[in-house]
Amino acid sequence: GSVAAAETAIHLLRVAHDVVGAHEAELGALDAIAGDGDHGVGMVRGLDAAVTAAERSGAAAGLSAALTAAGEGWAERAGGASGALWGAALAQLGTSLGDHDQYPPALVADAVDAAVERIRALGGAEAGDKTMLDAMAPFAASLRQGIAAGEPVAGALRAAAATATGAAEATAALVPRRGRARPLAERSVGHADPGATSFAMIVDAVAARV
Ligand code: ADP
Ligand code: MG
Ligand code: MG
Repeated sequence: GSVAAAETAIHLLRVAHDVVGAHEAELGALDAIAGDGDHGVGMVRGLDAAVTAAERSGAAAGLSAALTAAGEGWAERAGGASGALWGAALAQLGTSLGDHDQYPPALVADAVDAAVERIRALGGAEAGDKTMLDAMAPFAASLRQGIAAGEPVAGALRAAAATATGAAEATAALVPRRGRARPLAERSVGHADPGATSFAMIVDAVAARV
């Protein structure tokens, strides 16, 4: 049910926090190539706020409330483009998943699509702009495909995470057309997008624990 799902969500937010924390300096260095170098610090601050807010909401209040609180906490505390986008995406995930006794796999795929769509609407980026969306969209598509093929969510999630990792690496070839990396765009060629990289790290760690 929704309470058990909220417990899982809070646990997975901690997993995300820990993996980003372990790579904080690496993400900062990646963002410093053409951006302002704060991606690692910002993601850790945002996830720290997200975990705290979800814990404060409490599992008993249900999945939707926990994810909404996490998203709001993240957006408020993280600062930066990625914080606003991640915060909105998590809140959207909470709204789309809602509170149910069961979460059918198709509902999970729909909710992930809605979260990615929220980022697209808010940030205005398109495929190939060298943003987190270049890892998120292939992730969502792979997840949907696996679920449609009848795979259990955990297996579909692991395959989607592998897709996200490959897609994040492939952003190295792209020239950024959005966000702070744009003015120094050429410098970023040969290096993966920071937001796509942290997204792949997060879904890889989460998929290994569901
Ligand atoms: P800031 O750029 O404000 O310092 P971060 O360094 O935390 O924020 O995040 C940078 C990442 O945010 C980029 O690598 C990119 O993936 C993502 N990003 C920036 N602008 C957009 C946008 N308009 N749409 C989607 N993702 C974006
Ligand atoms: Mg930055
Ligand atoms: Mg910044």
